[in-house]
Amino acid sequence: MVSVNCRGCGGTDVVPVVDLGDQPTADLFPTADTPGPDPRHPLSLWLCRVCTLVQLGPVEAQIAEEPLAVESATSLAHAETSVKEILSDYPELNGSVVFEFGSPHGGSWLDHLYAAGSTLAKGNEKADLVVDVHGLVHEPEMGESFRLRAERLAPGGLLVMEFHHLLPLFVGNQFDTIRHGHWVYQSLRAVGYIANLNGLAIESVKQVEMFGGSLMVMLRHTADAKPDASVDVVLADEEAAGIADEIQLASLQEAASHAAGALHAELTRHKAAGRKVLGYGAPSKAPVLLDLSKVGTDLLEFTVDKAPGKHGRRIPGACLVPIRPVEELKAARPDVVLVLTWDIAEEVIAQLEADGGWGATYLVPLPEPHELRR
Ligand SMILES: [Zn+2]
Repeated sequence: MVSVNCRGCGGTDVVPVVDLGDQPTADLFPTADTPGPDPRHPLSLWLCRVCTLVQLGPVEAQIAEEPLAVESATSLAHAETSVKEILSDYPELNGSVVFEFGSPHGGSWLDHLYAAGSTLAKGNEKADLVVDVHGLVHEPEMGESFRLRAERLAPGGLLVMEFHHLLPLFVGNQFDTIRHGHWVYQSLRAVGYIANLNGLAIESVKQVEMFGGSLMVMLRHTADAKPDASVDVVLADEEAAGIADEIQLASLQEAASHAAGALHAELTRHKAAGRKVLGYGAPSKAPVLLDLSKVGTDLLEFTVDKAPGKHGRRIPGACLVPIRPVEELKAARPDVVLVLTWDIAEEVIAQLEADGGWGATYLVPLPEPHELRR
């Protein structure tokens, strides 16, 4: 068997648990006239039996991301609210020196922090508030990333990290969030373990709704941290769901195949009944979902996205589904809208129904395909 070093603790007892086969890269949307097949790479989840970090398996090369996405209104509002809450919960951080480890998505906190009087750490200056909002997942070596964040943090300072949580991924069958370029799938348990190895400890945690269920975790240098009850609550939920257990984790593969088959059947049924189905959203989740579901342009003629950079392109992989402006969906008035950006389904429905809509049904693919009506 291939030997793999854990991306978190560096250990070698790392085992495969979920295999999604060879998948296209999630963010390299080819122009609509680019013929297939697109390049594919193995996409699998592995579990470290020591620190319990769930992570991508060995991948030959890091796959670059194209920053084509537009931040959702949900994401932008969340960044603003988060900064207000942190400064209210930790008033000593008002006007402090801050540093942010950036991310291609999730919404930067910096403008909101500057507006509240904070200044950016210069050079190697240490910061009282270090922020990482959906940044760490893009780093192939999580242990090293924690070391860099600990180094940047001033004594007595606060490190705030937000990341998609493995618990809702697992219990909500969010298999389409597994993708090339997102190297780690974090539980609070694994984050706490790896933080400890790098001189940090978790003090508090909040569950937030971003991307289908995320955690906002507050950490400090180990000597400064005073863990509160919120930490034990999340750890107990994770333990009850078995997300550090390789047998439990492996069941995600079966759940993914089942939902993918059900989506194919549902779209086939709509087609047979003569209903027009179009997609909303071209998120980096869509390639894996449509590929596993074997959905092509025969079942989904096109999808639409707010990001102008994606127009005239198509979803990567075998589906070849083109991406067009949102206005084309409204003009086509489909009977059914497949919401590929299911994590912001409410925002999507509110947007399409703002001027009264046309009576469409909204189909949400996960955890199993289900319909939402306004
Ligand atoms: Zn490990």
